[in-house]
Amino acid sequence: MSDRKEKRPNILFIMSDDHAAHAMSCYDSKINETPNIDRIAKEGMRMDNCFCTNSICTPSRAAILTGTYNHVNGVKTLSDRLDGRQQTVAKLLQQDGYQTAMIGKWHLGHGGNSDPTGFDFWSVFPGQGDYYDPSMIEMGKSITVPGYATDIVTDKSIDWMANRDKDKPFLLMCHHKAPHRPWIPDKKHAHLYEDLDIPEPETFNDDYSNRASAAAAAEMRIDRDLTKNDFKMDPPAQLEGAALKSWKYQRYIKDYLRCIASVDDNVGRMLDYLDEEGLTEDTIVIYTSDQGFFLGDHGWYDKRFMYEESLRMPFVIRYPRKIAAGSVSKHMVLNVDFAPLFLNYAGINVPESMQGASFHSILQGEEPAEWRTSMYYRYWTHLSEHKVYAHYGIRTEQYKLIYYYADALGTLGSEDESKIPEWELFDLKKDPYEMINVYNDPDYERVVAVLDKELHRLQEELGDERFVYKG
Ligand code: CA
Repeated sequence: MSDRKEKRPNILFIMSDDHAAHAMSCYDSKINETPNIDRIAKEGMRMDNCFCTNSICTPSRAAILTGTYNHVNGVKTLSDRLDGRQQTVAKLLQQDGYQTAMIGKWHLGHGGNSDPTGFDFWSVFPGQGDYYDPSMIEMGKSITVPGYATDIVTDKSIDWMANRDKDKPFLLMCHHKAPHRPWIPDKKHAHLYEDLDIPEPETFNDDYSNRASAAAAAEMRIDRDLTKNDFKMDPPAQLEGAALKSWKYQRYIKDYLRCIASVDDNVGRMLDYLDEEGLTEDTIVIYTSDQGFFLGDHGWYDKRFMYEESLRMPFVIRYPRKIAAGSVSKHMVLNVDFAPLFLNYAGINVPESMQGASFHSILQGEEPAEWRTSMYYRYWTHLSEHKVYAHYGIRTEQYKLIYYYADALGTLGSEDESKIPEWELFDLKKDPYEMINVYNDPDYERVVAVLDKELHRLQEELGDERFVYKG
């Protein structure tokens, strides 16, 4: 428990949308540089195994606010709205004397019980929001703000910090829309990377053999499923096959990275503001994203799968009073842990109802007496837009077991067309890119048995229901 006599830290939580860790230089990106986000890692800790519990926007946001899994907070798919009557980290901090603000992408529904609660100030995009001259809902009132979304969210965040009550600590959730599709860069970065080729990832030409059916069935292929709207022009007529696929990747990834360049600049503005105001020592700064993203990995864009590129959230954190500069952790932390972490730093008891755990001791370089060695994941959105099968699974340090139960189960935003369930097992040590399903390999029979047991233990502990196939 934190000592309440200590000065309570401010919490600046900067979250972007769909920014994969492998598009940040502090995570050894091979495709771009993010000097400002890197500053947080250099002056604090980089977490290498931070995972989301459901790799899609709305559900991850609900997990972060409530500290609960999606079968508990009720936000399983993009079609669900957050019922704001439940407990959230923002409410608890506000009740305990924090000033709280939510600026940018909310994406948890509007009206009824779904507007932001627990915030002294909120100014959010309706739905996905627009990159240019976006509409915003500010404290219930619709406004239109001229300019580029990433700059606007930063301007509003800095304004709010400047006008806050300086006698109280604050929680500021600064949520960028970028780099979500459609990838529309700002004018300043529109020509970045123009004269160079961005390298293609190792698994760019994955043919989805040696896997369950789900990978081949997914409709998020760069060569087939991106559209003219994504490229903003027709592909050159003479291109075909591999050359055309490469052209499409370059169009996609460059715009994606240009959107990130603006996010990185604006993170720099926020850090500079903290320095200028003398707030650096007393402020926890986090940069993360609601989930990962496929950057041509497996030939894909988008997320949803429990595969590494989509499962992993970037997470860098700086708090000079408690976290050693330049530290790195491999401990497994989850989006449901963020709320308990904030509460712990604020000296507030974590309610029993929250399912995550504070990882403050890990951040301080200690080895916690007990910490998870496996994590539970569930993607509820069956089929729908990108035709990914509903699945659940667990990941341990070395293995990942996925069960594509492939049934809508009446979930809102899913398509009611079940498939025959299938399993996948990956040995992440031998096969880090998850290209070979070893579920039916006799050498892994014992591993499967152990993981299957652990999967069901986790489901029981977290109160989720096991799927029973009726044929
Ligand atoms: Ca997202």
